[in-house]
Amino acid sequence: MHKITLLILAFTLALSGCGGGGGGAGGGANAQAMGDLTLIVTDGVIENYQQALLTVTAITLIGDDGKQTKVLNEPFTLDLLSLRNVSEVLAKGRFPAGTYSKIRLMVARIELNKLNAAGDVIDTDVPKLPANGKVDLNPRSPFVIRENRHTYVEIDVDLDQSIKVIQTGNGPGDVPCAVELVRTGGIGTFPAPRFINSSADMDSAELLPGQVQVVDQINWCGGFSPNIIGCASVPGNSLVVVRFNPALEGILWLHEFGHNKGRNHRNDPNAVMAPSIGATRTHVNAVECAAYEVP
Ligand SMILES: [Zn+2]
Repeated sequence: MHKITLLILAFTLALSGCGGGGGGAGGGANAQAMGDLTLIVTDGVIENYQQALLTVTAITLIGDDGKQTKVLNEPFTLDLLSLRNVSEVLAKGRFPAGTYSKIRLMVARIELNKLNAAGDVIDTDVPKLPANGKVDLNPRSPFVIRENRHTYVEIDVDLDQSIKVIQTGNGPGDVPCAVELVRTGGIGTFPAPRFINSSADMDSAELLPGQVQVVDQINWCGGFSPNIIGCASVPGNSLVVVRFNPALEGILWLHEFGHNKGRNHRNDPNAVMAPSIGATRTHVNAVECAAYEVP
C-alpha cells in the first residue's frame, strides 16, 4: 500500500451544443423553459495501474445565479481506465434552461488497482480525497442549456495530473549495478496445482531444489495475502513466484531475489525493492547492489 494523496481532481470540460428540435416550442406562460443535457465522462490514464474505480454520489449543476440543480442522486462507480477511446454517459436529463458556471461532483472514493495477467487485483491504493470529495469543475466559460436544445458536456478526467505518490524517506538514488542473473541449474517440475496457502506450504516450496519456485497461486506470505505475485524469505535461498506479465517478470524475480539477499522493501516508487513492482521500478541503490553481488 502506498501513501497516495489526491491533490486535486484534474478535469477538463468540453462543451458542445447540438441543435435539437425547433427552438421555442414554448409552453404556458409559467412553464419553466427546459433543455436537455448529457454529461459524458471520458478517458483517464494513470501509469502503473490497470483499474481506477471512481465512485460519485451526486452531481449538481450550479447556475451563474448560484442556484443548484441536481442531475444525479444515485451513487455509481465506473472504471475510468476502461474508458480509453470511449465515453460513458454519466447523467442525462431535462433541466431548466439557463447559464451554468459549475458542475459539482461528490466523489466518495477512488480506488486504484493493479491487476495481474488474469485480471485479479494484486494491489490497491485508495487516495485520500481533498475537501471531503467535493470537486467543482469550472468550465473556462459558463455553459448554457438552451430551451429545447441538447447540450453535451464532456468531462475528461486527467488522473495523472490528479494523483501524486507521496514518498516518505526516499532512499539513496539509483546506482549502476553490474549484476547479471544467470541460470546455473536445471529446470524441474513438481505436481500441480501448487498453491501457497499457509506457512507450511511456503516451507515445503522453499525445500524444493533450486532458488526459484514457480507456483499457481500465492495466498500466504508471512500472513494471509490473497493473490500475490511473489514471496521470498529475508534472507533466504528460495523465492516463490507466479507467472506474471512477461515484461515485468524480470523485475519481479530481481525483487524477490533482493529479499533472499537480505534486502527489505524500500519506499521509493522507482526502486526494484518498492513494495510493489512496476515497469519503471528499476532503480537499485548501492546497498542493494552490494547485496546482489554477494555470491
Ligand atoms: Zn517484496
